[in-house]
Amino acid sequence: MTQLVADLNRPGWDDDPALPEWRGFGPLVGRVTADACVIGLGGSGLAAIEDLADRGLSVIGLDAGRVAAAAAGRNGGFLSCGGAMSLSSPDAPVSLDLRAELYRETLAEQRRLADRLGPGVVRQVGSLSLAGLPGEPIDDNEEQAARVQLVELKAEQEALASIGVAVEAYDGRLGQGFFNPDDALMNPVRRAFGLASTLPSGAQLHEHSPVTTVEAGLVTTPRGSVRADLIIVAIDGKLELLLPQLAPMVRTMRLQMVATRPIAADRLPCGVDFRAGYEWAQQDPSGRLFIGGGRDHFLEDETTYEDDPTPQVQRWIDSAAARVAGEPVSVTHRWAASVGYTEDRRALCVPVDEGVVACGGYSGSGNLVGPIAARAAVGLLVDNVAPPGYLRTSGSPLG
Ligand SMILES: Cc1cc2nc3c(=O)[nH]c(=O)nc-3n(C[C@H](O)[C@H](O)[C@H](O)COP(=O)(O)OP(=O)(O)OC[C@H]3O[C@@H](n4cnc5c(N)ncnc54)[C@H](O)[C@@H]3O)c2cc1C
Repeated sequence: MTQLVADLNRPGWDDDPALPEWRGFGPLVGRVTADACVIGLGGSGLAAIEDLADRGLSVIGLDAGRVAAAAAGRNGGFLSCGGAMSLSSPDAPVSLDLRAELYRETLAEQRRLADRLGPGVVRQVGSLSLAGLPGEPIDDNEEQAARVQLVELKAEQEALASIGVAVEAYDGRLGQGFFNPDDALMNPVRRAFGLASTLPSGAQLHEHSPVTTVEAGLVTTPRGSVRADLIIVAIDGKLELLLPQLAPMVRTMRLQMVATRPIAADRLPCGVDFRAGYEWAQQDPSGRLFIGGGRDHFLEDETTYEDDPTPQVQRWIDSAAARVAGEPVSVTHRWAASVGYTEDRRALCVPVDEGVVACGGYSGSGNLVGPIAARAAVGLLVDNVAPPGYLRTSGSPLG
């Protein structure tokens, strides 16, 4: 049995030596003016800042906490191509061509991160998508669900193959499904700090500066304000708290994870998702297991703005962790964070005011789609280029 008392609500990634060395940025104090202001210093906001500064614009980046304090520093570290919309779904909100275009863009984004940050941050190892969890099903329902998932995975494998991805069927000690060689893994904290500390001159960051209001040309925090003609809001979870007008399009959910002491070396050769993606796990180079999931069993409770781990979901993850590890595990960290879900899993890049664009709603898969949406926001504001059709730029309310 695993212990429930671990390092509570501190991500396992925060053990990284990069963290104590992080010098950080002071809060925004006073009134400043810049060409652009970006709200949110996760992977998405940092991509927008880089893009704006690369164009020679002055940019102020603001975050309520530290760089990547929210989902961007607390996630599973999967750099999975294609985002949250499946290729095989008959109900997808956009055409297969558009989903294939998004797949290619996310792959390019991942390669770009790998080139920029190196193999110490991005591991290009592929990923497995498997039906069920490893080991014997606990009951008939689980067995039946795994059969259905396997059929869905075969359809997804075929759809991926149809757009030229070199997917391979997998039937091995972890279960059945397919291997996608395009996917990669990362250490989220290293990624965020790596990006934040190598931004072009012209970018100025302020941590611990919660934005209270956003209007055309003006961003306000408790101790200061930024005047800027171009404003990008790059917040995934809780986006609708700052911009309530987006509440009909995006819903905040909580996702939870644990990290363990090292398990058997090479148990997971790559990132692995189980049960239609409801669990996901990676083993880092030191052998530790990082695993999350369980949301579908507690959907109502996990539709919340709270971002503390809860005993019921954590117990579920503990049992999944032991099955994935193939041995009892010792949990060292437990944490949670907020993300934004859209009803049809299409990410948002939505103008909300004159010169203000909001990005978010990545439905649990924003590590690559987020930067793409944020760059699309830059393209819209600076070049007047409409975002690609795989992003939603306006929308009907959620049901
Ligand atoms: C447990 C978990 C596991 C996940 N696993 C994966 C995965 O493996 N692969 C994947 O692709 N995705 C995964 N995701 C989703 C992914 O982490 C997010 O989609 C992505 O990190 C979003 O990044 P972002 O920069 O858009 O937003 P965020 O990470 O939400 O960053 C937004 C920033 O804005 C700041 N902010 C919020 N409000 C304000 C305000 N009013 N004023 C100023 N700043 C503000 C926050 O402090 C935060 O730092 C996971 C998420 C969670 C929670």
